[in-house]
Amino acid sequence: MIAKIGKIEIGGKNPVTVQTMYDRPVSDIDDVINQIVSLKALGCDFMRFAYVNESERETFKQICQRSCMPLVADIHFDYKLAMDAFDLGFDKVRINPGNIGSKWKSLEVFKKARDLGKCIRIGLNSGSLPKNLENEAQSDLMVNTALQYLEWAESVNFNNSVVSLKSTDCDITYDAAAKFALQSDYPQHLGVTEAGSVISSTVRGTWVMSRLLMDHIGSTIRYSINGSIESEVIAGVELLRTLGLRKKGVRIIACPRCGRYSFDSHKMLESVENELLKSDKNVCVAFMGCQVNGPGEAKNADLAITGIGNKTFIYKKGELYKEVDKKNAVQEFWKAFEEL
Ligand code: SF4
Repeated sequence: MIAKIGKIEIGGKNPVTVQTMYDRPVSDIDDVINQIVSLKALGCDFMRFAYVNESERETFKQICQRSCMPLVADIHFDYKLAMDAFDLGFDKVRINPGNIGSKWKSLEVFKKARDLGKCIRIGLNSGSLPKNLENEAQSDLMVNTALQYLEWAESVNFNNSVVSLKSTDCDITYDAAAKFALQSDYPQHLGVTEAGSVISSTVRGTWVMSRLLMDHIGSTIRYSINGSIESEVIAGVELLRTLGLRKKGVRIIACPRCGRYSFDSHKMLESVENELLKSDKNVCVAFMGCQVNGPGEAKNADLAITGIGNKTFIYKKGELYKEVDKKNAVQEFWKAFEEL
């Protein structure tokens, strides 16, 4: 099955997409639009916003009109807001029919999406499932509930759906997605919800999503990281690149540093990383902590940088390209990068 979100299709043989959820105030519309542009450059395909009440109607209308990527409205409880989100220009709405209330309210949302050619994510979290009367495994309950909601959608001839079955528990999330894929080929949105701190959420999300993606399960991914939304996008793109599911972009090598280090490679990387990751160049760039081992370890990189004292050394394909003063290191790095 294919789902269409604005001009982007997911599912089937389409490329896996990356998304995140906006977590900042939306009152400054220019600022929101600039951030959407910046996140798109990092590799984000969709952005989700919580649409919580009608006071934000005009703001979201303008954001939808000006956005360079399809936008998704996240709706809890109020089916009227879901209907309204389509009118505002959102291309997709995320609902959990279980907390929308009555079945007829969900059917109204499906019908409106059908009439306007919009997409719906049926988003189930393990914390908001119907009562488990038969004591079935939680992953089975999630799958069966999602299949039931899809039947509701299909009963009104709506099938532009995406499904997510998320839990804070990695095993349940994995099992639910894998079991669902055995019974349905609706596109799945993958992610481990509320997965913890930056490191734990990245590790746990990677553990679950990489196994599923390698089994060709999952059409769009979101890392839920207790950090910046940029980090969610960077992690998502990095995962796809690591799995060979996305080709474009810079591959970064950075040494962990040890007692030999003479160049602050961590600081150098931090100062250029976000801009570097916005590049489409298919190149490898290395940030190494010393001149003793750094150039050798990075000899296959298209561009490498290290240094000692006030001197910074820039290498291309393992050969010394330029020796520059430390204070000009960032500027000279970018010049060398542009030449690649
Ligand atoms: Fe240590 Fe130098 Fe290797 Fe970095 S490049 S880990 S500083 S030896």
